[in-house]
Amino acid sequence: MSEIYDLAIIGAGPAGMAAALYASRSGLKTCMIESGAPGGKLLKTYHIENYPGVKGVGGAELATNMLDQALEFGTEYIAGEVVKVDEDKTLHLADGSTIKAQCVLLATGTKERMLNIPGEKENVGKGVSFCAVCDGAFFRGKDIVVIGGGNSALEESVFLTQFARKIYIVIRRDEFRAEKKFQREVEENDKIEVIKESVPVEVLSDGKVTGIVIQNVKTQEKQTIECSGIFPYVGSDPISDCVKDLGVCNDHGYVKVDRNMETKIDGLFAAGDVVDKQLPQVVTAVGDGALVAQQAFKKVKEK
Ligand SMILES: Cc1cc2nc3c(=O)[nH]c(=O)nc-3n(C[C@H](O)[C@H](O)[C@H](O)COP(=O)(O)OP(=O)(O)OC[C@H]3O[C@@H](n4cnc5c(N)ncnc54)[C@H](O)[C@@H]3O)c2cc1C
Repeated sequence: MSEIYDLAIIGAGPAGMAAALYASRSGLKTCMIESGAPGGKLLKTYHIENYPGVKGVGGAELATNMLDQALEFGTEYIAGEVVKVDEDKTLHLADGSTIKAQCVLLATGTKERMLNIPGEKENVGKGVSFCAVCDGAFFRGKDIVVIGGGNSALEESVFLTQFARKIYIVIRRDEFRAEKKFQREVEENDKIEVIKESVPVEVLSDGKVTGIVIQNVKTQEKQTIECSGIFPYVGSDPISDCVKDLGVCNDHGYVKVDRNMETKIDGLFAAGDVVDKQLPQVVTAVGDGALVAQQAFKKVKEK
């Protein structure tokens, strides 16, 4: 352990990158540790059109711009996975190394929730996918089933129509949760068929996905849909394992913070989707991240 950072950021999604930009620009010695590719969920989003001031932008392009901007002001990027955070703000990485900081930001986001039905787990990467942007092109001319009725499910279904022959959207209720704009786009797309009041019960495969069995929640009747791809969009769970021993999470694993995004542990902050919040979006994630940088700046200067 050679140096002590003013702010160590775990996760290079929008929350982490906004914090990195603000912190390094204000002169804090800042590092950002990322276990995957920088960009977080932005990399799984084909098109973003609700980020103010940017009329429409590819997720990957926005991610690249955010990263460049943070690095330009001096943020140090570290590839690695943080497996544990100690109360004294020592970070333990999967490769056995440690990083020490005066302030730590947990900006680790969420992971997609699985359907937890037979046949799903063993077919991830063989037809079951959680990322339309990454895998959509593999299903050119094929049939796809999307599970879920929220914004992501509908938005990604429309995206998938450029590849697929047909898309079935399966929803549990008799109406969508998604915004009206996405509902309209789905209704107007004749490649998409919506199957309501049904839940998935089994993924069928012969080494690759061949279909899915769904069940009507009212009649209990089962139906098999032949398809090559299954995209579950049924929610997500926070990635907060590395702080689980610190008592800063709620029962669902989301990190509890005050109005300054600080946990009950002095100097340990959380931002973005890992925090229990009403609107998990890019615009709120970057707001959280900026606020954390300002709070960290105050703390470091006070010390
Ligand atoms: C399909 C889809 C479409 C979306 N469309 C929109 C949209 O149009 N507009 C909008 O505003 N929002 C959209 N969202 C939501 C938006 O992407 C998220 O709200 C936002 O990315 C949250 O940012 P974050 O930084 O909190 O987390 P994330 O973007 O999830 O980033 C977290 C990062 O932390 C890293 N990480 C996790 N654990 C560790 C660890 N232990 N060590 C190191 N690194 C770690 C991850 O690899 C990841 O890169 C969409 C989401 C999805 C899935």
